[in-house]
Amino acid sequence: MILVFLGAPGAGKGTQAKLLSDKLSIAHISTGDMLRQAVEQGSDLGKRVKSIIDSGEFVSDELMIELIQQRVSEADCKAGYILDGFPRTVKQAEALGEMMKQRGVNLDAVLLFEVSESEVLKRLQNRASEQNRADDSAEVQKNRIAVYKEKTEPLIAYYNNKSMLKVVDSSQGPEQVFNNLLQAIGR
Ligand code: AMP
Repeated sequence: MILVFLGAPGAGKGTQAKLLSDKLSIAHISTGDMLRQAVEQGSDLGKRVKSIIDSGEFVSDELMIELIQQRVSEADCKAGYILDGFPRTVKQAEALGEMMKQRGVNLDAVLLFEVSESEVLKRLQNRASEQNRADDSAEVQKNRIAVYKEKTEPLIAYYNNKSMLKVVDSSQGPEQVFNNLLQAIGR
């Protein structure tokens, strides 16, 4: 099974991706985690992306596409995977479509985790105090939401037009949202 998780920062994609990847024994690919790890390790990639992540802007499409292309070729992705945080632009979505075609596989569904902006802000504030993420400061939070609206929201129509989109009510607690998610994918 190959799934894309879509939703604003703080919508619960990461939490739900962890739960579902455990249940289905498929890989959880979080591009945000991959980039943060690169920053922590001080690798060339990490040095290139640190200031971009800290500002809440997006890393270039070219770099992200290359990163995903490599990642999905790894052995643990054979049984399927959840893309958490990719694609985030129409260009990335088009590249993903091409990638799938070349690999002879299909995207099973795109799950949109839907939650109000006020709830998103509340969750990001909580996460800022719990995880001490530099990109969860109040100013950067606002920018991340603005960038999401401008660059990622168009993917909702993009995948809806392809009849691939399924909406998951993400306004409740993690357990209830997980039930909503299972229902959406028929599990
Ligand atoms: P996340 O943890 O998914 O919110 O990602 C943290 C940050 O990593 C984002 O704010 C972006 O700067 C960067 N990032 C993660 N995934 C992507 C992507 N698909 N395209 C561009 N930038 C990304």
